[in-house]
Amino acid sequence: MNSRSDMPPGKKNRKQKSQPGLLKAPLPLLDDPEGEHLPAFLPFTVDAHVHLFPDSLFSVIWLWFERFGWPIRYRLTSPEIINFLLDRGIHHIVALHYAHKSGVARELNAYMAKLCHSHPTVTAMATVFPGEKHATDILEDAFQSGLKGVKLHSHVQCFEMNSPQLNEIYEVCIAHQKPIIMHVGREPKSPAYPCDPYDLCSSDELERVLRNYPDLKVCVPHLGADEFDAYRRMLAKYDNLWLDTTMTLARYLPMDFFPDLTELRADRIIFGTDFPNLPYAWDREIRGLIELNLPDTVLEKILGKNASEFYDINSLHKPPYLR
Ligand SMILES: [Zn+2]
Repeated sequence: MNSRSDMPPGKKNRKQKSQPGLLKAPLPLLDDPEGEHLPAFLPFTVDAHVHLFPDSLFSVIWLWFERFGWPIRYRLTSPEIINFLLDRGIHHIVALHYAHKSGVARELNAYMAKLCHSHPTVTAMATVFPGEKHATDILEDAFQSGLKGVKLHSHVQCFEMNSPQLNEIYEVCIAHQKPIIMHVGREPKSPAYPCDPYDLCSSDELERVLRNYPDLKVCVPHLGADEFDAYRRMLAKYDNLWLDTTMTLARYLPMDFFPDLTELRADRIIFGTDFPNLPYAWDREIRGLIELNLPDTVLEKILGKNASEFYDINSLHKPPYLR
């Protein structure tokens, strides 16, 4: 999904040299039963990690997943994805996408802005390829068009968190009071990525970002997999860090250990799933969350309140009984 020529200027292509990672071979499709609807007792529920792309890009991404990640159970177009989740009881969606090379972000952002304009229950993030020409203009225009933050993916975009290319992105986010969600945990790593996530993604590097930019709101997906302990410690220490649960509650990834949500700051955990790029039932993750029997106040935070705060989800877009 990337090539040497797509690297930001001045950056070397970091060849993989460390451990193979969780995706050393493709993982299986699960045929687990899926629910028809979310249970009615759940509070305001945001799926804060949903991927939306134009059809042509989804096809390429799914080909990659089939080959190196896992089979995709829900091959839906972006409008179908929105309807699928809302019909089943999800109240609000945070939509993410990412540019895998320079020069495509503007077009992708325009696509996202159009989608979220026609769906007030979708909060969409912007993308940019770190280091590309006019990166800050691209983001400013995206915010102007209604996109509510930035999504970055270090495994695909091969960036260093502490670099001039990233600093300019952090600064534009702070200036516009927009959050950033960045996949900067080391897993799930595939040897097929053009750079080595174990080389780029240490929790120490993120800690430097959190210290240098106390006004930057950062969310790291997958609870920071696999450096769970370091992320638990940082969560307790830094008020500008959030984590999303994506794929960690489904107990699908072949990991020996998953963090206990009760040991993490309840006001900093955001529910998300990675839909539609999933090999298992759409509601597997939320069933995993319900099974934890968390107190109602904690469930309310994880399912909706924290995402509303982090992504500035307007209460007007909640159903009237939840406002
Ligand atoms: Zn994702």
